[in-house]
Amino acid sequence: MAQRTVQEYGAFARDIGQILYTEEQIQQRVRELGVQISADYEGKNPLLVGVLKGVLFFMADLLRAMTIPLEVDFIAVSSFSPQTRQQGYVRMIKDLDIPIGGRHVIFVEDVIDTGLTLNYILRTLRVHKPASLEVCTLFDKPAKRLIDAPVKYKGFDLPDQYVVGYGLDYREKYRNLPFVGLLAAHAFKDAAQEERSG
Ligand code: 5GP
Repeated sequence: MAQRTVQEYGAFARDIGQILYTEEQIQQRVRELGVQISADYEGKNPLLVGVLKGVLFFMADLLRAMTIPLEVDFIAVSSFSPQTRQQGYVRMIKDLDIPIGGRHVIFVEDVIDTGLTLNYILRTLRVHKPASLEVCTLFDKPAKRLIDAPVKYKGFDLPDQYVVGYGLDYREKYRNLPFVGLLAAHAFKDAAQEERSG
């Protein structure tokens, strides 16, 4: 399939200040990860667990790049307190459907930034005593890490800047872009304004 260009997204694309990883680069790297994980987990029927919604496309593409039997499940978390909107407070809002005790679990994440979300989730998963638990993240932002993140499989490093696309949003927009990029300064302002007036 031909790669989509930023121009095809019309006015929407003007919100993207710079593309960091193209659709082709992402697809290539995800395929490599799929091949590597398939080799490592041959005969283990791994359970891949993702956090909604940012991991949506990464999980879908990774699963299709894998060539061994596997299962998939999702959780959802809220990363700020509903009362204080304080960052760093992580709370589970959708639990697993599949029991993970004794299973070989691969936790699949979109971005690791401070590592707080990952830390909370790994602690929660370990309580259920999986046979093994490894982390696969598409993007890693090491600059602001507050807590150690035991990453086994990694797609790309990111600078300490907010990115959107390939499942990642800004106020629920931009998830559908097939590439990952930085938002232009005007897009932050426009979205804030829209939220105030809407
Ligand atoms: P942490 O707890 O490691 O600081 O944050 C991890 C979560 O913050 C990710 O799962 C993701 O939801 C969100 N996040 C971190 N950096 C970015 C970014 O640049 N763009 C988007 N859209 N989300 C991000």
